[in-house]
Amino acid sequence: MAADSHLDTDVAVVGAGLAGLVAARDLVRAGLGVIVLEARDRVGGRTLNEPVGADPEQVVELGGQWFGPTQHRVSALARRPERYVEKVWSEEPYSGGGYAGYMPPGAWTDHGAALRAAIGPLHWAGSETATIWNGYMDGAIQSGQRAAREVASALG
Ligand SMILES: Cc1cc2nc3c(=O)[nH]c(=O)nc-3n(C[C@H](O)[C@H](O)[C@H](O)COP(=O)(O)OP(=O)(O)OC[C@H]3O[C@@H](n4cnc5c(N)ncnc54)[C@H](O)[C@@H]3O)c2cc1C
Repeated sequence: MAADSHLDTDVAVVGAGLAGLVAARDLVRAGLGVIVLEARDRVGGRTLNEPVGADPEQVVELGGQWFGPTQHRVSALARRPERYVEKVWSEEPYSGGGYAGYMPPGAWTDHGAALRAAIGPLHWAGSETATIWNGYMDGAIQSGQRAAREVASALG
């Protein structure tokens, strides 16, 4: 994009993981104009589908995949788990297999709330900002819903 070009929108969502996509969905439902900016060439973030064979409907889950009781938000999104696959995530070059951000003892207690405190027009989502299922898909969805509510309320 040229440096002098601009996009006309109410909200720019940075990142198309579960949190960003849910926030964008809820903001569109609230009647706001939304663009989603994603650095990678795919959406989904730490969730990832890989096709199995030629049928695009047949996929395996290679990122976030397991959820269970009390994870109501991701349960509501999920439809048909179909395959099981094993992958050596510790061989991943960037994450080394870690699937969520981790803070040292005391950091959550002392500074956790600051992770979701808006700074001017900037609002923060992401599983690591969630108050339930932090680091999991359900937490990502909760954080996206919360950020969307904050933004919709701020835009009045
Ligand atoms: C191997 C693995 C297994 C997992 N297993 C489970 C599981 O079984 N159950 C479970 O509940 N959870 C699991 N998780 C965790 C779950 O996948 C994550 O908590 C959740 O998907 C995080 O969603 P998010 O939207 O918060 O962040 P992400 O999915 O990380 O999304 C952030 C997005 O923002 C983009 N981005 C970052 N910076 C920028 C920028 N400056 N500009 C534009 N785009 C940017 C990134 O490319 C990414 O697409 C697993 C994760 C991994 C990796």
